[in-house]
Amino acid sequence: MCRHAAWLGAPRRLGPLLLEPAHGLLRQSYAPRLQRCGRVNADGFGFGWYDPGLEEPVRYRRTVPIWTDANVPALATCARSACLVAAVRSATPGMPVEESATAPFSEGRWLLSHNGRVERKAVRDLADGREPESVCDSAWLAAAVFARLASGGGLADAVADVVTGAAAADPDARLNLLVADGGAVVATAWNETLFTHRGEGLLVASEPLDDRPGWCAVPDRHIVHAGPGGVRVDPL
Ligand code: GLN
Repeated sequence: MCRHAAWLGAPRRLGPLLLEPAHGLLRQSYAPRLQRCGRVNADGFGFGWYDPGLEEPVRYRRTVPIWTDANVPALATCARSACLVAAVRSATPGMPVEESATAPFSEGRWLLSHNGRVERKAVRDLADGREPESVCDSAWLAAAVFARLASGGGLADAVADVVTGAAAADPDARLNLLVADGGAVVATAWNETLFTHRGEGLLVASEPLDDRPGWCAVPDRHIVHAGPGGVRVDPL
């Protein structure tokens, strides 16, 4: 399944998520170490970052393998932010390979990535009548989360509500969601791996980006909430 990663802390470039670590998302796109389903993540990639001068995040998505895009090294150098989200994709069988099915999904200040799969009929009722950007299961999850956020819900509550609701309707679902708003990051572990690394800020990633000590596995069915008040890990 896909791999995703986020940073929240002092402003830093995208390079330390994607290109520089020994097992950054570039390496994870062709040689993930802990991936349970699928061997490579070559069905596209995307990333987003928050520029203090802009209301909404800047996003870049492609349907090609990340290693084929010659724009990435320059973008990874100039994209610098206190909040970064990136993902590489292995499309679930039956899901379209198109930019609109590629994370991060975005609405307003929010960026969202999904690592996993879910029956779309398990999510349709959660989307409150919203049309997803794509027929992809992840786009349905994004529509459901954005619907809750747009009506004033908090980041962690919106994500927890969608994950538990989707899991109730599809017990086999894998629902690792990663959502950011520029000042906070929320991530769930639900039938896929998730790790955190705390230093000058917080790294959250499907699997460790390197072999430094300090990576902690998030227990399954838990939610990580990082914001100005610190980092919490709670059961879902
Ligand atoms: N189901 C989503 C998709 O098809 C996510 C896939 C994944 O995690 N590999 O894009």
